[in-house]
Amino acid sequence: MATTEHVVIVGGGLAGWRAAEELRAAGFDGRLTLLSDEQHPPYDRPPLSKRLLKADVEASPIHLAREGSDEQTLDLDLRRGVRATGLKPGVVLTADAAGAQGEVSYDALVVATGVRARELPALSGHPRVHLLRTFDDVLDLRRSLDTAQSLLVVGAGFIGAEVATAAHDRGIAVTVIEALDVPYQRTLGEDLGGIVGRMARRYGVALRTGTGVDELIDSTESVHVRLSDGTSIEADIAVVGVGTVVNVEWLQHPATEGATGWEAGVTCDGAGRALGLDASFGRVYALGDVAAWHDASHDRHLRFEHWTTAVDQAPVLARALVRDLAGESAEPVEPLLPYFWSDQFGRKVQLLGRPGLADSVEVLHGDEAADPDEPAPRKLLAGYFAGDQLVAVAGISAPALLGRYRGVLAEGASRERVRALAAEIAG
Ligand code: FAD
Repeated sequence: MATTEHVVIVGGGLAGWRAAEELRAAGFDGRLTLLSDEQHPPYDRPPLSKRLLKADVEASPIHLAREGSDEQTLDLDLRRGVRATGLKPGVVLTADAAGAQGEVSYDALVVATGVRARELPALSGHPRVHLLRTFDDVLDLRRSLDTAQSLLVVGAGFIGAEVATAAHDRGIAVTVIEALDVPYQRTLGEDLGGIVGRMARRYGVALRTGTGVDELIDSTESVHVRLSDGTSIEADIAVVGVGTVVNVEWLQHPATEGATGWEAGVTCDGAGRALGLDASFGRVYALGDVAAWHDASHDRHLRFEHWTTAVDQAPVLARALVRDLAGESAEPVEPLLPYFWSDQFGRKVQLLGRPGLADSVEVLHGDEAADPDEPAPRKLLAGYFAGDQLVAVAGISAPALLGRYRGVLAEGASRERVRALAAEIAG
């Protein structure tokens, strides 16, 4: 007999859509509702800063539905243009595009509201200044790129680097400014960040590090800004890529506030059950960019804005939720291995593991100096260590090599063991 429980998923991005698919795959046969504040059917974001910025590629969203899985086959009530505005025990408060308010009651709630692009107050709200998070952002940015001759990118993170690459490939003069001394200093560290910075310059992008935007001088005919180093810079348009903010404000009910510290993401156990909520809220889960799951291998709550994290978490959460509803005991869960990729300056940059935990970095394969005439190292791989333990590897144009380190990463191998593997591979 079918269950009568109602699972409500809030957020129609990758995490929300995959949660719906995996809940059905895990045998959930009750009511399933997905609230999405966007008007488009759930679509994929990585192409937004890559393929969809190319001049010769048609701008249409790439839908997430796997073959044979759509609203009908999933028996999913997908409500587009409906925003969750608040949470009461057992009830999600909503507003639609016309402002009409409503309530949706749940037996289990899945929070998948992701993150939004962080705004830079000095540049916020100006038509020549773009953020990049949604398909509608891409449509706006493409219109601007079609006529721009110069672009200022604020922030040399992954989004900034990918936009800079796409704009440069369209023949636009690109300047990237970065507040830190090297790009990705906090994610990749000084050495690899420095290499990516040199990759950007050799590709033809002007990169200025150690400076940020202080003030907007004018934005009528161009974006003219004063920088913190006292100089000024002018470009036809600007793209701001200075990080993200987690979409958790709608969860700030008085009973949830303070108990959770969710401003840095919804803290969850290793299967996506939200922690720190008053029991009256019932079964609440979270996954994807908005969620910080417990990672048993390091006994920490870690949040990743990685495509594969949302995909890997969905079946784990779905199985846990179905068991919880059935009153069955929890299954043991294996920690997931985070993975991220980015296509920039003609190279694929990949990250496996948790570089944020590292205190030292060691280049294991490749040597930038060996390829002085190349725009970027042909192949390079670095290991990230917390003390003696390998916690991450990052590669430039080295997908096969990266895969060879999956096993030692999962087992948290020592430096000696990692060096031995590097010698064996090189050997
Ligand atoms: P999101 O995709 O952000 O989806 C959340 C959804 O919830 C959104 O539709 C949002 O509008 C909606 N929402 C928010 N608040 C509410 C509310 N109150 N009510 C209803 N709906 C709400 N990752 C990689 O690993 N490699 C890449 O190369 C890569 N490239 C990227 C390029 C771009 C331009 C972007 C933006 C991201 C990229 N990512 C990449 C990250 C990856 O896309 C994300 O990790 C993934 O989209 C996370 O999915 P999510 O569903 O958790 O969040």
